[in-house]
Amino acid sequence: MELKNLRKHIHTLATLPDSDAEVVSCYLTLQAGDLTGRSAFDAQVRLLTQGVTGTARQDSEDALGRIQKFLATGLLPDARGIALFARAGAEPFFLPLQFRVPLPNWIAVDISPNIYHLVELKDTYHRYVVMISTEESVRILEVNLGAVTAELWKDRPELRKRVGREWTKNHYQNHRRDRTQKFVKEKIKILDKLMSAGGLAHLILAGNPRIAAQVAQQLPKHLAAKLIDTVPASGGAKASDIVQATISAFVQEEENESRRAAEDVIRAVRTGGLATVGAGPTLEALQESRVDKLVLAQGFKPAPGWQCTTCGIALVETTKPLKCSQCDAGEFRGLDVKEEMVRVAERDGCDIEVVQESDTLMAHGGVGCSLQYRSAAEYVTRA
Ligand SMILES: [Zn+2]
Repeated sequence: MELKNLRKHIHTLATLPDSDAEVVSCYLTLQAGDLTGRSAFDAQVRLLTQGVTGTARQDSEDALGRIQKFLATGLLPDARGIALFARAGAEPFFLPLQFRVPLPNWIAVDISPNIYHLVELKDTYHRYVVMISTEESVRILEVNLGAVTAELWKDRPELRKRVGREWTKNHYQNHRRDRTQKFVKEKIKILDKLMSAGGLAHLILAGNPRIAAQVAQQLPKHLAAKLIDTVPASGGAKASDIVQATISAFVQEEENESRRAAEDVIRAVRTGGLATVGAGPTLEALQESRVDKLVLAQGFKPAPGWQCTTCGIALVETTKPLKCSQCDAGEFRGLDVKEEMVRVAERDGCDIEVVQESDTLMAHGGVGCSLQYRSAAEYVTRA
């Protein structure tokens, strides 16, 4: 799947209007076209309907039936991960998404689709270009969400054929050196065009280490700024193995980027900048549409969340509140805070960074955000 399609699907899920029925969100890892943990999955499915009666039970069973049917008939042979969203009731909804990278085995029933794992996937694997150079050829590939989705360019100059018997070894080597130089220059031009046309912001060079180093050296400034890493490969390496190696390099760089975003937020908080940390303040800023970038630690485990069923305001509290601070009503429903955060952030088009490991962010509650502007209340306290 391409990143732009995943973005579209996430937006659809984040803005799906509530209905009378709940949504089953189901993520699974696949191997050789089948579920990796079939029995664990079946046990989880049974748990979902336990103790549920009436229409709610029928709706859950219908949604799960739809998912089971798809798993039996709709899996792509090369899918490694699948995400399924199903809702029965008066406004049925069904969306299956298949990926070339694994997803955690996870299932939940909620009012809204649970999109956190899709958001994490989008942040981890998004999109980059690999240029594989060898002595004989250059290939430029686009990698989307952990899979090659396009061969942007392929070139195999027929150099060896032109080296006739009349050429001396020396002559050939000089020719080859000049030619490699010219070859590198030409290919950088093509790379530049392809990257700017496709709006691609990340580049990895791979293949023959000597040629890759030459390419890196000759990259113009604006392309050098997009270069994430150089991944050398031996002459006989298969393109698929080279791409696999670049994926690891990309995931590492993406993690560094997310970590920097977390550090920026914490620095801003400490220096009175436009940012906040902790589950409560972050959720509040999201609900007031003041968030620029949301930064979450993978290990973020917030206290329970509560949503007022009258005015819709959500808050983080260990125990269920007695009265809503906004509208005085007393009815609340339980809320998955992490899911609510990513749902609101995606709905409003905020950037989201998921950090795998950040002790600093975890020490500040595991979540934070940079802000577009301060709340009115904050101005009052500051005055
Ligand atoms: Zn309320």
